[in-house]
Amino acid sequence: MRVLVINSGSSSLKYQVRETGTNTIEAHGLIERIGEGAGGSADHGAAMDQVAAELEGAPAGKPLDAVGHRVVHGGERFGEPVLINNEITRAIERLNPLAPLHNPANVLGIRAITAKWPHLPQVAVFDTAFHRTLPEHAWRYAVPDSLYRRYGIRRYGFHGTSHEFVTTRAAELLGVPLERFNAVVAHLGNGVSLTAIHGGASVDTSMGFTPLEGLVMGTRSGDLDPSILIYLQRTGLDADEIDTLLNRESGLKALAGINDMRAIVDAADAGDQRAQMALAVASYRLAKYIGGYHVAVGGAQALVFTAGIGENSAAFRALVVSRLGALGVTLDAGANRGRSGSARVISAAGSAIPVLVVPTDEERAIAEATAAVVSSIHG
Ligand code: ADP
Repeated sequence: MRVLVINSGSSSLKYQVRETGTNTIEAHGLIERIGEGAGGSADHGAAMDQVAAELEGAPAGKPLDAVGHRVVHGGERFGEPVLINNEITRAIERLNPLAPLHNPANVLGIRAITAKWPHLPQVAVFDTAFHRTLPEHAWRYAVPDSLYRRYGIRRYGFHGTSHEFVTTRAAELLGVPLERFNAVVAHLGNGVSLTAIHGGASVDTSMGFTPLEGLVMGTRSGDLDPSILIYLQRTGLDADEIDTLLNRESGLKALAGINDMRAIVDAADAGDQRAQMALAVASYRLAKYIGGYHVAVGGAQALVFTAGIGENSAAFRALVVSRLGALGVTLDAGANRGRSGSARVISAAGSAIPVLVVPTDEERAIAEATAAVVSSIHG
């Protein structure tokens, strides 16, 4: 099936055309500066016209069979990819308050496709969906129930498409049936999240009500004492300023002055003490969470690294695993340093559990999920 995968952001739109049968990428592109006037597309409709023009010019100009959208927030309703109709679009729109930077742009992308290609089936694939299996003791915050009932305040979790894809691959690599697979999966990109996998399902995850909770990220703080926010508010900072501070000015960027992991590792190697501290804070917190999730799943059968840092930074992986001595997990230094585009084991022969590197591919996962939904409907 020929699927157009759309990742629609507020001012940019990424796309890929994938042939799911052969798993090939036939076209891809990025439209930037949407709605920013001069030089950019006027709106998401104009951006979609640009995508259509780019696709017509492509050599593989065969017709599309379906469109798959990455949708960030599926709330409590969506635990699976769904075929989009007007009611589904409105349901996604009702979740806008929960993901104000993402869902409105996802809805604009859906409406732009509906206007341009009304007969093309569209499927929504949600970042939160894989975490719909979280038990209540993991998703509930210890706050009055009215916050949950009135505002939907609970843990949702994100990066689900990636965690699910990587979990399936890891179980295959180890030859363990998915429904009996327990693991800890670390998605380490600009955003960072850890997921506890029990029986192939997500039973806990470090991102919460929003993607700000949990681990140290490129520019996000992750966990901190909530009183800090109240304190800052009393010093006169408003909600937008605190939002910017914690989402854009914190994390590795605050600690090291830069947020690119390669540059941080290089600086640390050259003796930069801020970079060394940034690596220590990030790896310590991650190791602490890995220990917690190992307990949460009743003993993981594997620790899995994925995404930009997880797949590429041997130095950061080594630093994290060096803090897991209590679990008996050790790396094979050569295997850890090695490079490969496919899933592999990097632990030492004597490690208590295998450590894997599994490349993630969210676009592939979205294309395959879209094809599965569309073919189940068309028989
Ligand atoms: P996003 O969350 O935006 O999809 P990615 O998964 O692409 O992010 O991860 C981005 C992070 O991966 C950056 O911190 C970048 O420094 C890091 N990264 C990418 N390649 C390497 C590499 N070869 N060595 C170390 N870090 C890398």
